[in-house]
Amino acid sequence: MARTLHVQALDWDPRLNEPMDGASEGGALEGADVEVAADTLYRAEKAIGNVTYDAAELEFYRYAGGQHRFDLAVQFNPGRARRPFSPKQCPVCLATIRKMGAQHYVCIGINGRPYVMLANIFPVMPGALVIVSAEHLSQDLNEYPERAREIVLRKCFSDMVALAKALPDHVVIFNGRLAGASLAHLHFQAFRLPEGYGPLALQRASGNGEVRWIGFDQDYPLAVHCANGAADGVIADSVEVASVWRTVQGAAASANVIAIAAASGVSLYFVARNGLFRVGLLGAAHGAIEAAGLAICSSVEDRARIRSGEVTFELLWRNLSFVRPAAAAAWRERCEG
Ligand SMILES: [Zn+2]
Repeated sequence: MARTLHVQALDWDPRLNEPMDGASEGGALEGADVEVAADTLYRAEKAIGNVTYDAAELEFYRYAGGQHRFDLAVQFNPGRARRPFSPKQCPVCLATIRKMGAQHYVCIGINGRPYVMLANIFPVMPGALVIVSAEHLSQDLNEYPERAREIVLRKCFSDMVALAKALPDHVVIFNGRLAGASLAHLHFQAFRLPEGYGPLALQRASGNGEVRWIGFDQDYPLAVHCANGAADGVIADSVEVASVWRTVQGAAASANVIAIAAASGVSLYFVARNGLFRVGLLGAAHGAIEAAGLAICSSVEDRARIRSGEVTFELLWRNLSFVRPAAAAAWRERCEG
């Protein structure tokens, strides 16, 4: 199957001791598609020791949902605690990446817009990628002028959908400000699910996108709009619900967005978030991965709580529902009205 994203060039810094396999002189990865580029990038990062642990080897704990159609899960990921928070300089601006010369990157074009693809060296899932806009744009969609906001939303969703279609075995996510984003620079992430793990709780709860809304009838702990089908319709529907969410929730509006290739086209899940709701019992933040049903924890204290049996499906459900915005019902009413 043809992957439609265009890989423009593949660069490495001469200070990195290993150029990427498969790259021709000058760095161009000729004729490659985005899957090949992602694999090449990962192998190169592993070869120079940038990837220090394998996300496929991490401990997972599953909690059966009983009458619910899905399980919730916890991952113990001690390596993730080492990731840097709030660095002084934007760590993913291309100028910084080039100056530091510490990681490989691939330049790709998505819907004609330039992005830079990096390996996530503190992964939660196998093959985790960070895809950042080539220009330093804000991850906080509230920061764009009102007249530009819908255009930015449309571009983000279109690019996520294109990426999901180009990487059909990956899950593509976007975390809004105060909803799990740890970079201020506009970015998406993409990853594979470990063998035997998927589908995500979010996919199971929505019948893989057949149910339009979940989380309004004790069927999921968070309020989610699920769009499924051909790309154009999915993007248009999602832009609309996201715009309504901004109107209903105002400046505190945030979201987790998840795009996954589906037999019918693509599924796009919009999880409504209020940036002021950030309580978390396990782990520091709730991002898209948590919203999809997987809590990440890194501390030995959390691991002891898992092993003692203190962590249950009910606790994980409650933990997620803490960040379910009170305005969710008004949001759905307005979207359907
Ligand atoms: Zn930046």
